Amino acid sequence: FVLKLKEMKGKPTLSKDGIKVEIAGNIGTPKDIDKVIENDGEGVGLYRTEFLYMDNDKLPTEDEQFKAYKVVAEKLQGKPLVIRTLDVGGDKEIPYLNLPKEMNPFLGYRAIRLCLDRKDIFKTQLRAILRASIYGNVKIMFPMVSNIAELREAKKILEEVKKELESKNIPFAKDIEVGIMVEIPSTAIQSDIFAKEVDFFSIGTNDLIQYTLAVDRGNQNISYLYSQYHPAVLRLINMTIKNGHKAGIWVGMCGEAAGDAKLIPLLLGMGLDEFSMSSSSILKARWTISKTSKKESEELVNKALNLSTIQDVEDLLNKINVE
Ligand code: PEP
Ligand code: MG
Repeated sequence: FVLKLKEMKGKPTLSKDGIKVEIAGNIGTPKDIDKVIENDGEGVGLYRTEFLYMDNDKLPTEDEQFKAYKVVAEKLQGKPLVIRTLDVGGDKEIPYLNLPKEMNPFLGYRAIRLCLDRKDIFKTQLRAILRASIYGNVKIMFPMVSNIAELREAKKILEEVKKELESKNIPFAKDIEVGIMVEIPSTAIQSDIFAKEVDFFSIGTNDLIQYTLAVDRGNQNISYLYSQYHPAVLRLINMTIKNGHKAGIWVGMCGEAAGDAKLIPLLLGMGLDEFSMSSSSILKARWTISKTSKKESEELVNKALNLSTIQDVEDLLNKINVE
């Protein structure tokens, strides 16, 4: 089997019936990029920049960030690099920000909410990303967007930063793509509207599952309720992909579910364009896709979306045998 995976290196990701999709890697630090390249990832679908902030005892400077983004962009040699803006809060703490203790940190002051409030932090990061954008194929992604007003505000701030850079003759990629994570149910439900105002979606199943099912993603006592096979979660994923395509934008997934071999046929059938996962899953996912017909998977989607329980979906997916 290891040999079979090696055969997948250097090949495009094609379904059994010849449909091209993209498999990218998720990274947390610049070092991680080597593993993505080693495993033949076709880009980075999620750069979790919060580690720059967490592995530090003060806010990282614009130059520190610039260097961290630039090195990754360069190593990718023109392959896409989706940089997610700061996503702290919930399980990701930054002690030196001295944020107030909250009853429900996962529902609290975090990610884009914090960035829109702390424009100083947000603008510094956006400047660093824009400056790095000339060294590769960089895209910007906002996390935890729950309503359109937040997206518009974030885009407005991005435009301000672009103007500032322009006035100082600092170069950046003028046509940089801007997307959002779809990881809150309200955003999946309104994905038809969001799709008109962004260049791409990336579905964050880790949080989308937690918020849709009201199940804390880190709580072992209720982990039996947490599942990417829940039909309600599948409906939101499918809705997001369909609405994205209707508006002509690409749709990826960077939550753990994107690398789940059992779910991949269903995601392929739904039309997912980009699968971003841990580097170690990339070649296996490419192999799974090469053994799966997209056309046949489309029929599977219709069945799955009309099932009642998590178990029903698992039974359906277990019946597919990828040889
Ligand atoms: C997600 O929520 O699915 C995701 C990819 O982001 P994180 O795991 O960093 O919250
Ligand atoms: Mg998330």
